[in-house]
Amino acid sequence: MTVRTQVGTNVDYEKPGKQQGHLRVPFSHNEAGWANLLIPITVVKGGRGPTLLASGGTHGDEFEGPVALMKLARALKPEEVQGRVILIPALNLPAVRAGKRLSPIDGVNLNRAFPGEYNDSVTGLIAHYLANILFPLADIVMDIHSGGRSMLFLPSATLHRVPDDAQFAKMLAAAKIWGTRYVFIYADIAGEGLLPVQAERMGKIVVTTEMGGGGECNPQVLKITERGVRNVMIQQGLIKGEMDLPVEPPQTIAATDPGDYVPAPADGLYESFYEVGEEVRAGAPLGQLHFPEQGSRPPEPVIAKSAGILICRRGPGEVAQGDCVATIARRVEV
Ligand code: ZN
Repeated sequence: MTVRTQVGTNVDYEKPGKQQGHLRVPFSHNEAGWANLLIPITVVKGGRGPTLLASGGTHGDEFEGPVALMKLARALKPEEVQGRVILIPALNLPAVRAGKRLSPIDGVNLNRAFPGEYNDSVTGLIAHYLANILFPLADIVMDIHSGGRSMLFLPSATLHRVPDDAQFAKMLAAAKIWGTRYVFIYADIAGEGLLPVQAERMGKIVVTTEMGGGGECNPQVLKITERGVRNVMIQQGLIKGEMDLPVEPPQTIAATDPGDYVPAPADGLYESFYEVGEEVRAGAPLGQLHFPEQGSRPPEPVIAKSAGILICRRGPGEVAQGDCVATIARRVEV
């Protein structure tokens, strides 16, 4: 069955060798009636083997993924590859150009836009193309995230506890060789329509990350990111080589209870008492909120509901009521 899509491309996914082209997403706007958005895509096809689809820039303020994948897209040669590697370093290109989490064109969060529709907003058209054209081609779907401007993560390979045990085992094995101190099992606490969930439902080996954040492209975090991508390619048989793994194996941690994600109780300035990676106790203050408009008002403590490792904290000092200021994860055996 031919799947209808409004997104075109000038690459041929079946052609051996290396192609660097673009996805062509219809984008008719006030300044250019017959315009298209051109999103760079690289396809490297060598001998027989699996297909990896790797993307960065799903959120436009997370920069390690785009930089790591742009470097790989320039360097990778077809004679090195057993299988096929499809790289889209800046999947939500308008958001990446703006350095914003959401697309400035339609205000849509690409990581809430799946599966998208045939006739959708620009961001929805990208989601629809992935769900209907690219995911069916892929065995491994890798989407590289970080904390963005609003959050700081202890760099982690992340995954959902998918119901299929065999699929989960493959995803966990890939997460464990990413090269981070923690493998983090997370819950979706802010909406549906996520890219990884769509790929998981289609049975893919889904590899995702939360690499640093704060709107940076941190050199140490970038190094971990590049190493992780390469390790997964070696593990999956796409390229030859030795995996570069830290001496200490990663610990698996999980934040699967809504209480593990701590919201700001009011607008204010948030002072965190802890840095990411530190242990926190249940019932203890994680930080406190200050109220700049009310000089005599004492700060309000923000209390941890659960005990564990602070895996993520709010980046900027200013917070609005309901912003996530902390995420606490527990060690788990899987
Ligand atoms: Zn993200």
